[in-house]
Amino acid sequence: MTTIFEAVNVSKRFGIAQTWSGKLAHKLKLSRKIPKQVSAVSDISLQVDAGEVVGLVGESGCGKSTFGRIAAGILEPSGGNVMVHQVPGKPYFSDVHRNVQMVFQNPYGSLNPRLRVDQLLSEAAIYHGLVSAKDKDPFVKGLLQQVGLDASYGERYPHQFSGGQRQRIAIARALALKPSLVVCDEAVSALDVSIQAQVLNLFQKLRREQNLAYLFISHNLAVVEYLADRVAIMYLGRIVELAKTEVLFSRPNHPYTRALIADAPRMDAKPLTYKPIAGEMPSPLNVPSGCAFHPRCPHVMPICREVRPALIEVAASQVSACHLNTTVPKMAKAS
Ligand code: SF4
Repeated sequence: MTTIFEAVNVSKRFGIAQTWSGKLAHKLKLSRKIPKQVSAVSDISLQVDAGEVVGLVGESGCGKSTFGRIAAGILEPSGGNVMVHQVPGKPYFSDVHRNVQMVFQNPYGSLNPRLRVDQLLSEAAIYHGLVSAKDKDPFVKGLLQQVGLDASYGERYPHQFSGGQRQRIAIARALALKPSLVVCDEAVSALDVSIQAQVLNLFQKLRREQNLAYLFISHNLAVVEYLADRVAIMYLGRIVELAKTEVLFSRPNHPYTRALIADAPRMDAKPLTYKPIAGEMPSPLNVPSGCAFHPRCPHVMPICREVRPALIEVAASQVSACHLNTTVPKMAKAS
């Protein structure tokens, strides 16, 4: 397998504006000091092979969208490296990053309402020299047909389409740059369930026909289980487990992964069960010491509050970051 995308120890920190009222409250000892930076992504290493689908799963605010934007070259990492086809992905917005395109969650917000569909689909391809202005029309018609839309839709504006059709146009816009990897950030979450299935089938068809790889970011475990070859679970900016999809769903190792899978409502369970994860995800401004999951973990041990567990191999094609694997391996297997 050819590796087409690789992130090595990627981190992203954002600066926090200090308001005068916050500074005053801290001076008067009415509140704790607000840090100057917040860490959204910490030390993530991940690779995607040609034609592979890697799912990236976690609760809202865990940093998965930030990582997706770094992968697509929209954000620059604060630390670590991104390689696309073994070439460093710098400078950003460069030709290297043309190989990684992104489909966003909201098809109503991601298409410029002032541009016609043929402009939306051809602008970047003309800029990158993939098509000449005079060959634009057949190029646009080909893209529309690839995503299951009528070839005559090029003269319309985004507001003339339904949500599902707009998402197909967003997918066509990504395909226009002939990427090898498409980052899909909650790409079906805003669609009706029946339309979701159509768009997921379109992703599968494009993968088969063009050997496209996807980094599929979602909080929907059922969708990820259906599409992905491997799944990475993120918690507070870090990957806590990474495994082949069938391994992760049949033998989840990390307590957070187990909680996420138990948390997902299952239609096949009788009676219908729903077990929410205890507590809330802490603020990235105040990341717990040691294992960040320890305030919510039913297996927490003293070491968990002190030492952050490293990602280690726990089985073939499965890595996990939990002290249960090194401290009490029998307990990890039993629970
Ligand atoms: Fe739970 Fe400790 Fe494992 Fe963290 S390291 S998931 S707190 S058992």
